[in-house]
Amino acid sequence: MSKVLIIGAGGVGGVVAHKCAMNSHVFTEIMLASRTKSKCDKIAADIKEMHGVTIQTAAVDADIVAELVVLIKSFQPKMVINVALPYQDLTIMDACLETGIHYLDTANYEPKDVAKFEYSWQWAYQERFKEAGLMALLGCGFDPGVTQVFTSFANKHQFDEMHYLDIIDCNAGNHGKAFATNFNPEINIREITQPGRYWENGEWVEIPAMSIHKPIDYPGIGPKESYVLYHEELESLVKNFPTLKRARFWMTFGQAYLTHLEVLQNVGMTSIAPIKFQGMDIVPLEFLKAVLPPPDSLGENYTGQTSIGCQIKGIKDGQDKTYYVWNNCDHAECWKEVRAQAVSYTTGVPAMIGAMLMLTNADWMKAGVWNCEELNPDPFMDLLNQHGLPWHEQINQPLPHEY
Ligand code: NDP
Repeated sequence: MSKVLIIGAGGVGGVVAHKCAMNSHVFTEIMLASRTKSKCDKIAADIKEMHGVTIQTAAVDADIVAELVVLIKSFQPKMVINVALPYQDLTIMDACLETGIHYLDTANYEPKDVAKFEYSWQWAYQERFKEAGLMALLGCGFDPGVTQVFTSFANKHQFDEMHYLDIIDCNAGNHGKAFATNFNPEINIREITQPGRYWENGEWVEIPAMSIHKPIDYPGIGPKESYVLYHEELESLVKNFPTLKRARFWMTFGQAYLTHLEVLQNVGMTSIAPIKFQGMDIVPLEFLKAVLPPPDSLGENYTGQTSIGCQIKGIKDGQDKTYYVWNNCDHAECWKEVRAQAVSYTTGVPAMIGAMLMLTNADWMKAGVWNCEELNPDPFMDLLNQHGLPWHEQINQPLPHEY
């Protein structure tokens, strides 16, 4: 009997709710709560129609700990799956500590007024979760999330020492809109307009945003221009795998997307500094988010695939070795299964799997605050194959991005 509370009813929240409902032998009661209850009700109606499962819904402002505590005390779940925005991570963790329940999220905390991606704030909860006998699993989407499970799976089974890691993330889909982001526009644009950063020889190398790029040949897709970005999982990966000499994260962007972004940046629309407008304080990026298509509206006519994987070079038995592990996911198939596009799907499915493991597998239930690579990767890899994200691997074959 495991009751679960899902917070956030956007693109990812919809997928988590569908997938939990499709696994009601584990998630015996589900509540979806978010700022706008009508969005939860719409998802609940789809779930009833498609999977015949009834879930509960509620309104909650997850910025307010007291509201969360009242909701948690009345529903009494075993854990929260937080798929609202990174701004709510700490308030939800506080509410979990106050009510004695476990926690999982898919993106690390950021303060609203600084676009800064680091785990320090959430790692600072380590002792409090440990002492309370509660678990917090951080960043359990695809990237962060599966990319760390892939890396730890490679480390466990393929290498004596890993030296070079490249996480490569391609979206070769087409949603037919002139400009839209595949997950929350505000968070997405904050992430890609900040300087790039990668790990090399024991230190972070900072580069101007989008200044390193090259075509990478993605399986089943072909070559796509890919850009080095800073991505949050690099911070925990280089800490947990100290043999890494270099770790980078690459993501594809189309030329039309980059041109739109450049114009928006040049006219000040991506700024997070408040400005006065008709007597009100508004944040240009928040206003921009309000006029862009929401991620959960992109799914219906989305075609093409995503491809996300880790390619690693290192040593096994004294020999050089390369390993590449990846998943390709089809936007239209995701729509058929759970009325979502593949970026929401590849985030929501691992969140459900992480929660399933925390509730059913002793290896995955440990008091404290954890990143995904710190737990046994094997059962997670099995569940990816079972729940819609099958993976493939290649050993000592030509790599998408040659060293
Ligand atoms: P959306 O913008 O589609 O959804 C966010 C949801 O959170 C909305 O329903 C929103 O409510 C709700 N919300 C926002 N603020 C509050 C609040 N104060 N209280 C309650 N609910 C709130 O975003 P996505 O679904 O695309 O993304 C969700 C999360 O997943 C983000 O944190 C994102 O960074 C993360 N993500 C992680 C990835 C990974 O691979 N690890 C990849 C993609 C996303 P309302 O509808 O009222 O606005």
